[in-house]
Amino acid sequence: MHSSVALSEELAHHAVEVASRVWWVGAVLPDDPFQCHSYLIEAGSQSVLIDPGSSLTIAATLRKVQEVVELDDIETIVLHHSDPDIADALHVLSDVLTRPDVRVITEWRAGLLLKHFAARFPMVTIEDLDWRLDLGDGRQLEFLLTPYLHFPGAFVTFDPSSSSLFSSDLFGGFNRGHRLWADSIADFEDLRQFHEHYMPSREILMAGLATIAARFPHIEQVLPQHGYCIPAELVAPMFEQLGQLECGVLLASKSDTHLANLLAAAAAVRRIESTLEMPIALGEALELVAADLRAVLPLDHFWVEVGSPPSLVRFDEVHPEGVEQFERTSPGPLRLVVDLPDGHDEPHVAVVLETSEPWDLAGETMSLLGLLASRVHRVADEALARRALIEREAVLRSAALTDALTGLGNRRAFDQFHELPASAAVLMIDVDRFKLVNDRHGHAIGDRVLRAVADAVQASLRRADRAFRYGGEEFVAVVELEPHVSEHDAARAIGERVRAAVALLDHRALGVESPITVSVGVALVRPDTPLAQHVLHADEALYAAKHTGRNRVVLLPGVR
Ligand code: GH3
Ligand code: MG
Ligand code: MG
Repeated sequence: MHSSVALSEELAHHAVEVASRVWWVGAVLPDDPFQCHSYLIEAGSQSVLIDPGSSLTIAATLRKVQEVVELDDIETIVLHHSDPDIADALHVLSDVLTRPDVRVITEWRAGLLLKHFAARFPMVTIEDLDWRLDLGDGRQLEFLLTPYLHFPGAFVTFDPSSSSLFSSDLFGGFNRGHRLWADSIADFEDLRQFHEHYMPSREILMAGLATIAARFPHIEQVLPQHGYCIPAELVAPMFEQLGQLECGVLLASKSDTHLANLLAAAAAVRRIESTLEMPIALGEALELVAADLRAVLPLDHFWVEVGSPPSLVRFDEVHPEGVEQFERTSPGPLRLVVDLPDGHDEPHVAVVLETSEPWDLAGETMSLLGLLASRVHRVADEALARRALIEREAVLRSAALTDALTGLGNRRAFDQFHELPASAAVLMIDVDRFKLVNDRHGHAIGDRVLRAVADAVQASLRRADRAFRYGGEEFVAVVELEPHVSEHDAARAIGERVRAAVALLDHRALGVESPITVSVGVALVRPDTPLAQHVLHADEALYAAKHTGRNRVVLLPGVR
């Protein structure tokens, strides 16, 4: 494992008080990286011996115990699990602890195994004790189950009066150097190896740590059964480091690159899962996901395709909200498509990974990518639903602003219109004697004429100019004026173009006997004047046009 030296010679001979009335009474095995610790809680005739040890160590431990208490003071033996390094001493203790009421406290699963050590002590379970043990003087130990770390019924013991956590195998480690206490967070490396090899999984480890932290928020020292005792200042950092460890999978070997890759992939998928939980656009999430994937795969591009042709949507970091028309680069780099089968109602989802390097994905990595794809499926569904919602809103909004008869912007659209060019004019356009058209030919023909007039108005404007249906047979246009020409002349010319375009309509083809004409009132736009004011001026001009014979353009001299 690693070159290690046993705990110091001094420790070999004496008990060490590691907290108030808590004594380390472990034995030291020379040149053993895997030192086992026993502890004594000094509580008069209710003293507790924690994880006493094996046939190899019990003699030394008992010598140290007697530096502190009489053997007859020991009433309770706590066994955190049933491993031989803590429980094999039971039959020795059977002979030396002669007090009749000595008992072993453990968890029931361990209890079932401990009977095989054939000790004469009664076995009391922590469940029977309701998870606590009174030691007199107001001192009370508390027990907490930490299942599968690493024994199925593993538990830890907390002594509130000294804020000591007897953590059993948790926080255990190998011993490097002649020390009982961890010096710095660098010692975590010795905990890392131990946990990687002995703890079944990161999830189980995290669950155990979280239970401990919630139940015992204030821990002054962690006293594990192996490795270093952890002083107050290192408790939180060690908790944090342990919480990030990958465990269990390393049972095979760290030098197994396949496993190492798998482990890295598992870590990446874990991060990816939490990214996909974030309330952000799918494309933004994919950017983060891609960064995690790049850590484990030679990835050039990564995107997600959702939907079915022809409305396939591509989500990637460039298109966080998705694009519908996208180019499929082919022939291109190597491409791996993790396809998810179509469900009945669900859209098709493909996770596409592109690389210019050859890659050789292990089966496990593939299945992890499959897992990723299924997570993406859910998020992609949401992204599609959000898109549909946004599109529907856009359609509704545009419908609300469009005049159904002519397709021009309606009065509401005009009222929301604010982008006045610096040099511009407002045109009010009103169909002449339109009431007659309706009266003579009916409303259907009237509507047809209105459409034709709207088209003619629109066609006589430039692309950037906007026309709206302002009211029944009244239109308004906002037009930009060309520079270098008198504004007056330019505005009048546009009005004239509109007038002429309508006058040229083939009225007979529209089913109307007399020509269709409009009168146009023009107002020049002044900076810093609201549009409504210009509309009033244009209306005045329109009124003048109506009263001077119709089918004409008027730009009143008084109003600029
Ligand atoms: P003037 O030259 O003075 O503007 O005369 P006019 O007859 O055009 O003016 P008036 O305002 O008296 O009549 C407008 C008519 O337009 C009345 C109304 O029935 C008709 N009208 C308004 N909206 C519509 C529409 O959507 N369809 C049809 N067919 N007619 C409409
Ligand atoms: Mg009219
Ligand atoms: Mg009118």
